[in-house]
Amino acid sequence: MKSMLELVDVHRTYLIGESTVHALRGVSLTIEQGEFVAIMGASGSGKSSLLQILGLLDNPDKGEYRIFGNNVNTMSEDEQAGVRNNVAGFVFQQFHLLKRMDIVDNVRLPYIYSGLKGNFRKEAIERLKMVGLEQRIDHTPNQLSGGEQQRVAIARALVRDPLIIFADEPTGNLDTKNSGEIMKILQGLHAEGKTIIMVTHETDIAAYARRVITMRDGVILTDERKPGIQHAVRVSGQSGFDIHGSTKGSLWQDGRFIGFIAQAFQAILANKMRSFLSVLGILVGVASVIAMMALGEGAKASMQEQLKSMGSNMLSIRAGSAKIRGASQGAGAVARFTFADVEEIASLHTLVKNASGVVNGAGRIVFGNKNWSTNLTGVGYDYGTMRAALPTVGRWFTREEIQTREKVAIIGVTVVKELFGTTNPLGKTVKINRINFTVIGIAPAKGFSGPQDEDDVVIIPVNTAMYRVLGKTYLSGIFVEVASPSLIEKTKSDISALIRKRHRLKEDDDSFNIRDMTEIQQMLSSTTQTMSLLLGSIAAISLVVGGIGIMNIMLVSVTERTREIGLRKAIGARKNDIMLQFLVESVGMTVSGGFIGIVLGIGISLILSFFAGWTVITSPISVVLATAFSALTGIFFGLWPARKAAELKPVEALRYE
Ligand code: ADP
Ligand code: MG
Repeated sequence: MKSMLELVDVHRTYLIGESTVHALRGVSLTIEQGEFVAIMGASGSGKSSLLQILGLLDNPDKGEYRIFGNNVNTMSEDEQAGVRNNVAGFVFQQFHLLKRMDIVDNVRLPYIYSGLKGNFRKEAIERLKMVGLEQRIDHTPNQLSGGEQQRVAIARALVRDPLIIFADEPTGNLDTKNSGEIMKILQGLHAEGKTIIMVTHETDIAAYARRVITMRDGVILTDERKPGIQHAVRVSGQSGFDIHGSTKGSLWQDGRFIGFIAQAFQAILANKMRSFLSVLGILVGVASVIAMMALGEGAKASMQEQLKSMGSNMLSIRAGSAKIRGASQGAGAVARFTFADVEEIASLHTLVKNASGVVNGAGRIVFGNKNWSTNLTGVGYDYGTMRAALPTVGRWFTREEIQTREKVAIIGVTVVKELFGTTNPLGKTVKINRINFTVIGIAPAKGFSGPQDEDDVVIIPVNTAMYRVLGKTYLSGIFVEVASPSLIEKTKSDISALIRKRHRLKEDDDSFNIRDMTEIQQMLSSTTQTMSLLLGSIAAISLVVGGIGIMNIMLVSVTERTREIGLRKAIGARKNDIMLQFLVESVGMTVSGGFIGIVLGIGISLILSFFAGWTVITSPISVVLATAFSALTGIFFGLWPARKAAELKPVEALRYE
């Protein structure tokens, strides 16, 4: 039958700078199941080095180590972690309990890395009962005495029912009374059939064992079995040994991930102030981006609203070429629009909401002894709403007035200023091109559009303008309101085709042109783009700065918790487990920071809209993006510290002071 543990000529050498320390120089040893072995010797004789190799916390430089006949040298790091988790339980001189968890969580910690489902509180409490701590289950390690802490560590070592318990100076930090209690527990475990391998330099502690190995300078000096029963319990076979152990079961299936998240938040909350300060960069960045995006969106929306009132869906169809202003290209090059054209265009129902013909001309307007040359526009009924020309003072034309060629006029504010000064023009009679008109309204002020004064206008009914004032039989142009902005291009081409058909114009004949407001819209979208770019770079900078803060704190955290990492590896954590633990922690921090930032940003934008009266719109996309980017920052900047943690060797991490 294969021995349980078998060492053949094992060497272990440490390099300290230039010098080498030969901790083990050829150790050969077999240990059978059910033995209680004490390894004795002076300090520095290699006891711990031997135990670490036996416990798979370290590997030999030379020589062979077989566990149930499996050569350890051929096992991967993760497989060894699996064996540690399934087969071994560790008890250290320094207890190595995690201070921020209560003792139940400490005891069940090995289960996290076992690949088994469940919360295992029951098992943990049961083991705590075995070591006599059932009264203290909601205590944290700091609230316990040294002896009690070591009993918690033993409960943790037992929680997965290991075959072997490795104990390195388990009573080294305890007084005689507590030492005795701990040794009684170990003795009891041996009586139940556990294999116990214990390092000690005290003879009275070693006296509990059935076999005592003495070491000096890295070799075994003596190996003595006590008379009487050698193996307290003879256990046959390889009960429970599974080399692959925790490498089975995916991360998501076995609930390990949830455990990691819970632990990450425990760790973050253990250092509340520090965690908060380190996410401050991300918090402020996200908050300002959310608030500014909300402002930007609000500004965009109100600009669009304004644009809409100006008629952003408006098409202007004019006779004559767009390219050569005014100058027509030979005879018949100017299309002559009639009301029939307007009706045809208006009947393109799905595309066109409204169509209105206009006629333009020069007007000379006289009031009293003042006169003024201005632009005369003859309009239809719908022009008022389409072009946002409905008077704020006075009224718009009625349909009858337009039909019956009434002599009523609406004048722009420039005209009001020139002719009336401060007196009220409503109801006054003016002469337009020597015909008497009654002023019924003042057109809303529009300001300048380029060099053009949009308020220097006189608006009269289109029929009055054509037949009474200007003597024109054709319209100068047609305004079309498109049903929605997305239909503008289609409407343009459809109207263009319609006009070409009606007026029998060839494809390349440009005796008319259709313009839309895309120029203004383009300007608007380029402003928005500049703004987004600016916001984007602020976000990027703040996330990078915040991310560096996170990386810094994670590096500190990894260093601070080196021994914790060592312990976790000892009880079976694999590289990826450690890596994930720290990644989850950094992502947890950045996402929480991002979340607070989002709330703060929304708060700021609400305050702005409330007190400053600005339009703000918080788009869900900005919230989703902020969350995603904070998470990415956590992953990106957490990766290096997490890798650093994962690469640590269990022994070195455990030794770290
Ligand atoms: P013991 O447990 O018997 O006191 P150790 O096995 O811990 O002895 O150490 C044996 C020798 O190896 C000592 O000289 C010690 O200084 C050295 N040693 C142990 N671990 C390391 C290490 N990680 N790096 C360098 N030297 C070490
Ligand atoms: Mg030692």
